[in-house]
Amino acid sequence: MPSDWDDDEGMPEMRADGPARRRGPSRGQVMRRRLVALGSIVVVVVAVIIVLTSSQGDDDSGQATAHTSQAKKAAKKTAKPKAESGKVTNATPQADWVPHRGPVPILEYHDLGKPPEGETYPELFVGRDDFAKQMDWLEERGYEAVTLEQVQEAWYHDGKLPPKPIVLSFDDGYRPQFTFALPTLKEHGWAGVLNLKAEGSDLYESNVKAMIAAGWELAAHTIHHLDLTELGPEEVEEEVAGSRKILQKEYGVPVNNFCYPSGKFDESVVEAVEEAGYTGATTEISGFAERGKPFELARLEILRETHVGGLAADLKNGEGATAEGGG
Ligand SMILES: [Zn+2]
Repeated sequence: MPSDWDDDEGMPEMRADGPARRRGPSRGQVMRRRLVALGSIVVVVVAVIIVLTSSQGDDDSGQATAHTSQAKKAAKKTAKPKAESGKVTNATPQADWVPHRGPVPILEYHDLGKPPEGETYPELFVGRDDFAKQMDWLEERGYEAVTLEQVQEAWYHDGKLPPKPIVLSFDDGYRPQFTFALPTLKEHGWAGVLNLKAEGSDLYESNVKAMIAAGWELAAHTIHHLDLTELGPEEVEEEVAGSRKILQKEYGVPVNNFCYPSGKFDESVVEAVEEAGYTGATTEISGFAERGKPFELARLEILRETHVGGLAADLKNGEGATAEGGG
């Protein structure tokens, strides 16, 4: 809100330099003085109206002539500023949010940038321009990113979500998730979900703390990123419950959600996740996440070759599937 009007100093007329001769004023003089005062008020009001309308005209003409994408981008940046607390806008419920019990898409990202030479899984590296374009596309289509905890607050309690909610999840803990995803999402007023493996990620403790401070949700992704379906019950417990304890202690946040390494889980793994007190767990099953399947939350994996087109198709398929299945 441009509140510059308040301290606009374009009102010198207020300091009436009119008749200020000091003599015992007669009744007629008082009358005249009142008329003069009234007159100067009218002048000021008219002046203010002129200033207001002319500057509005400036804004309009400015917008009309500057239809470049840069101007649009600048307008967008000011539209969703960071909240006062330092958290992004959507870290807290907004006025236009509504109750939501239906399915929600969760996107799954890994590394961002060019895959290094000889990289084993180059498909997990989404180009940075590509990523930024995907975020722009989502916003243009009305999507707004929230955390999984916010979704669960709406699903199971009385929480609310934006009209078109989406969750952006980032697995493992790669540096560009801090250096690139964090600032890119911030431009949109969005927070992501960091599925962090407790040991051996690329992120510094300070990076993770900065992400949490911006409103990101920290979720557990085991300690060593092993295939949980191939471990004994004690090891599973250590990886599932142990990773939660490590992250809680290190970052002082609840760590309500879990993410299965490589999407692998079975009945006993789900049991361990429930026992550790998690509210939900994300998989690599393709589709929209549903309220009724808290420990088998589907995600849409975004790969290097997915691009905006693939993302659009995935979301369209999910919308179609969930429209039939209902909430
Ligand atoms: Zn992973």
